[in-house]
Amino acid sequence: MATKKTCLYPGCDLPVKTRGLCNSHYQGARAAIAKGDATEEDLIARNLMTPKREKQKFQHDAFLLGSAVTGQANEIVETVAETVETLEPETAKEPSLFA
Ligand SMILES: [Zn+2]
Repeated sequence: MATKKTCLYPGCDLPVKTRGLCNSHYQGARAAIAKGDATEEDLIARNLMTPKREKQKFQHDAFLLGSAVTGQANEIVETVAETVETLEPETAKEPSLFA
């Protein structure tokens, strides 16, 4: 067996969990990428993450796709909310017209 690897993050000596990072630093890296604070290529170039394997590529793409879909869904919800706000005063007026 190879020597037990430790997290790439400077000063961190926790065992590697994913992509050369311990669990918490991997979560942190993923959060930074999701927020746009860093790119995977940047982290790999700085030796703060190991390149992904083919098996993990699919998972990552699925994760990105999920984010895109969630973003669109949020936009739709906002649009519907605005439409409802616009319609409500008219709907409230209607009964008084026929009173
Ligand atoms: Zn770590």
